[in-house]
Amino acid sequence: LTTNVRDFCKRNGLLTLSVISVATGCMLGFVLRGTQMSTQAKIYFSFPGELLMRMLKMLILPLITSSLMSGLSSMESKACCRMGVLTVTYYLWTTFIAVVVGIVLVTIIKPGVGTEMESNRLGAGPVMTSADALLDLIRNMVPSNLIEATFQQYKTDLIPILKVPTRTIQPNFVYVVPDESDPKGRTVYLELTPAPEVTYKMSPGSSQQMNVLGIVIFSATMGLLLGRMGERGAPLINVCQCINECVMKIINAAVWYFPFGIIFLVAGKILDMQDPSTLGKKLGWYGITVLAGLFIHGLILLPLFYFLFTRKNPFTYIRGLLQAMVIALATSSSSATLPITMKCLLENCRVERQIARFVLPVGATINMDGTALYEAVAAIFIAQVNDYELDFGQLVTISITATAASIGAAGIPQAGLVTMVIVLTSVGLPPDDITLIVAIDWILDRFRTMINVLGDALAAGIVAHLCRKDFPLSGAESVNVPMTE
Ligand code: ASP
Repeated sequence: LTTNVRDFCKRNGLLTLSVISVATGCMLGFVLRGTQMSTQAKIYFSFPGELLMRMLKMLILPLITSSLMSGLSSMESKACCRMGVLTVTYYLWTTFIAVVVGIVLVTIIKPGVGTEMESNRLGAGPVMTSADALLDLIRNMVPSNLIEATFQQYKTDLIPILKVPTRTIQPNFVYVVPDESDPKGRTVYLELTPAPEVTYKMSPGSSQQMNVLGIVIFSATMGLLLGRMGERGAPLINVCQCINECVMKIINAAVWYFPFGIIFLVAGKILDMQDPSTLGKKLGWYGITVLAGLFIHGLILLPLFYFLFTRKNPFTYIRGLLQAMVIALATSSSSATLPITMKCLLENCRVERQIARFVLPVGATINMDGTALYEAVAAIFIAQVNDYELDFGQLVTISITATAASIGAAGIPQAGLVTMVIVLTSVGLPPDDITLIVAIDWILDRFRTMINVLGDALAAGIVAHLCRKDFPLSGAESVNVPMTE
């Protein structure tokens, strides 16, 4: 056994280091919680972790644009169309299944039933409706200014009262935020529409967010058109291929920094964590329900779908994705994990490049099984805490809105917490009750992000198998393709 473990560690050096880093980060974080670190010291301490996040984010834009433009330009329209329809259908279907798993579990376990927690109802405020969320999603698909879509910077004096990470701010959304002037920490509503008139200040360490969905749509369209331009499109396609090659090389080099960065990223988060002793039993059961749902969906249902479609061993495939899952756990962001997911799919899972280049960026923006499951569980948990009976029609509403809310959530830390307002308001629950679950959201976010990433990667394997006739190199028949074209 020892020899086997040693062999495995040798072959998976980077993965082993990353896992050790997560464990070290946790230990370091808990040990340092005992010391009274100043805010300034915490910022310095978290710096290596911040660098890791910045590195990953730096790669997202060139990776998405070059992957989609070069990948789709070499595909036949029919094959493209087939791949697109299969991908989106599969994504919607698995997200819906995830929601159903969540609903069934929370209805059986009933984590919110009892009197231990009280809701902080403030009365109805202006909230984001499902229609607003849908419009916002479509709005993001059509960025009015492409340069602006690559960053959205906000400046505000409101930041001191924002506990929802500033990174999750998007224009035209209504934000539910804890009001620090209120001794009970209840929430206030900020309606940030129209966005340009409001100025926001970035908090230290947080960074601008890009409109990934808009960039995906634009790059995919460009890729499709470039492929149809023949000779004239070739120079731009070549440029995209070169950029893609360089980005993959940067990723290959950067991954060696990750184990170091992860230690500080995880420890920094634990230093900031709310004292676990203040968490109630109900909240504990709520966390267990979400984790059980994620486990059932990610490690039983998704692998089962993979097996049914491809007849291949899903766990061999998942083994190739472990590195990406550790990064998802450390960063809580499926967008930031995208470069590593791409690397794992191409190098370890041997998925056809054109498929990975399309399925992954789209998945990182719209496919979030873990988030959908969590939103459904959280909404029903809040209903249980409020002693609010949900009828079958309302459960159906929750399943639809949770699916929509997960599609609308950005692949960034705790984005699901913000879009959950849609689910709550759709069945008349008080959106300010989000404060009930904020305390453990940061940890659940890490696990749901892992399942989001896993869902995207398994989808790529399934689509590659179903489209194997269009791409003769996909699946098991493929050779271990080098990163270069
Ligand atoms: N952090 C998640 C992701 O990046 C989104 C969420 O559920 O908050 O996939």
